[in-house]
Amino acid sequence: MLAGCLAALLVLSVAAMAGEAGPPAGAGFDRLADQLERGELVITTHADALRLLDQLKQQIPPGDDRRELRYRYMFCILGMDNDPAKGVAYAEQGMADARRVGYADAEINFHFCRGSKQESLTTARDALPDYNAGIELARHAENIRLVADGLTWRGSVQSLLGEHALALVDFLEAQKFYDSAGEPTESEQNLFNIAVAYRRLGERTEARGYLDRLMQLGGERKDLPQQMAAHMQLGFLDLETGTDHLATARAHFLAALQMARSIGSHVSQGSAHMGLAQVLNQLGDYRGALSELGAARAEYITTGDHSDGDMFALQEGEAHAGLGDHVLAISDFNRSEAFLQKSGNLRYLADLLDHRSRSYEALGKTAQALADLRRMVKVHEALDRKAQSYTTTLMSYQFDTSRKEQENRKLEADRTLRDEQLASLQRVRRWQRVALTLGGVLIVLLLWQAQRQLRRSRRLHRMAMTDPLTGVANRRGLEYFGERALQHARLIEEPMSVLAMDLDHFKRVNDEYGHPVGDEVLKRFSGLCLESLRQIDRIGRMGGEEFVVILPGTTLEAATSIAERIREAVSALALDDLETGLRISVSLGITERREADREFAQLVARADEALYVAKRQGRNRTESL
Ligand code: GH3
Ligand code: MG
Ligand code: MG
Repeated sequence: MLAGCLAALLVLSVAAMAGEAGPPAGAGFDRLADQLERGELVITTHADALRLLDQLKQQIPPGDDRRELRYRYMFCILGMDNDPAKGVAYAEQGMADARRVGYADAEINFHFCRGSKQESLTTARDALPDYNAGIELARHAENIRLVADGLTWRGSVQSLLGEHALALVDFLEAQKFYDSAGEPTESEQNLFNIAVAYRRLGERTEARGYLDRLMQLGGERKDLPQQMAAHMQLGFLDLETGTDHLATARAHFLAALQMARSIGSHVSQGSAHMGLAQVLNQLGDYRGALSELGAARAEYITTGDHSDGDMFALQEGEAHAGLGDHVLAISDFNRSEAFLQKSGNLRYLADLLDHRSRSYEALGKTAQALADLRRMVKVHEALDRKAQSYTTTLMSYQFDTSRKEQENRKLEADRTLRDEQLASLQRVRRWQRVALTLGGVLIVLLLWQAQRQLRRSRRLHRMAMTDPLTGVANRRGLEYFGERALQHARLIEEPMSVLAMDLDHFKRVNDEYGHPVGDEVLKRFSGLCLESLRQIDRIGRMGGEEFVVILPGTTLEAATSIAERIREAVSALALDDLETGLRISVSLGITERREADREFAQLVARADEALYVAKRQGRNRTESL
């Protein structure tokens, strides 16, 4: 009877806990979703993404439409990698559901998702309506972050379409947001976009400056994907700079290839092989180029990515033409042109026409050769007009004149130029020379691939700021958050404190119970700390069994009582389920921000000193400095 009552009570209290006590339903979901969206979790492979998404899915409270939609758009963007048609359908369903529930952020993200799938399904241009709609909705909802995301998606497409000035404007505008929000990794990705746009506009010095900086940042953070992408870009830049840079271009692609291998990214390995093929084609080693192309194809086949037939075709055409097989080359070029008609990349088209006309000429088909040359002239003229409107675009951006006005000016310029057009043979010759020196332009295609890859994994390789064992911030994350918190506190002149914590005699835990138990203790410890802290506090693992807590808006006095609370909770922590009788304690050093503190590291150093005193005084205690 009594047992029955107790059981009933237990059931009731468990039900109450699940219902309302403790954190509100969905708090775990929100935390994980925020971390995913801010790129605070380590995701290096698609499998990582799927695993985290699955965790997220488990945490959707039953019947919670909005959180379910949030999960779905994240799945759409992060998780659906292979079947674009399925992706489009998934996004459309999501969009309809989001609209029904009136959840604007989800609707916007589904637009971005559908756009990205549409890019792989048909062509980049077809993604624009979705990106425009997403940006429009985000502006309307005054969600600047989503506006910036949309600008980044759209900028990438503009740059694929050869609208580099428009792309640059989008990226620069997005950068304003990333700078103001202090999003270091997002911002680095976007700086990348800016570098690429400058490169494509022929502003090589600007581009190189950004790329060198990104390479350095990637090195400091040991961020292989970023270093790899920088190598790819520097390779392209060298290819474009001239034949005397081919050796360095090759070195960059080889470095990128090695990194792609160690990351295990097939697409990137494919891109690096493509870069090498390009170098070899330029060196006249056509057989070598074909073998690199074969290697690239093998990598792409692994990924099921078939969207770059045009790039292969053009490169193969060039190699075949180089080997004297012009019939085969022309069929390569024709294949490439068929793709190209959809994507509308003019620089690429000019290059193709140039090569094909040469092959026609070699076969004695003068009429076809001439027709291609004529078309090439037209394409170059269009490119010329674009280069001119580049200045206009950027200026109009700077002076914030309306797009309309700029369009008018562009039309005007177009008309003037068209009037001047003369398709004389002499001009054809001149253009032919120009095309020769611009031989590197077909790399645009490689870029395209690199860019696609970059964008696809944009969210995936946002920074590793999380400690994989405990799930709290790692040293880098702490430094990032700490620095921000300190600057903020200085700005608004509010207090801020820092705790340094180190588990006592932790070596013994490992020695007596083994490393796995030690690991589990570290997890429990950080979980316990999280529970004792407010939402705005940050805890992170500096390494080993040393943790640091950032307490914004907190005086030394308040920090001391928080530290005491943690200390007591730790010494009361029951770990008998791990090992009977296992107990731990922690020593803490406390410090409050001072006027003279310029860097977060100064606070950590002082808290560490206080911690050291606590250890010397016998452990399981708090000391302040
Ligand atoms: P003290 O009270 O002076 O801090 O003594 P301690 O034994 O904790 O000091 P020490 O810093 O010398 O030892 C820390 C130990 O933490 C050493 C190492 O075996 C262990 N450790 C560091 N990182 C990990 C980890 O990731 N997992 C586990 N299980 N143990 C770790
Ligand atoms: Mg210790
Ligand atoms: Mg230690």
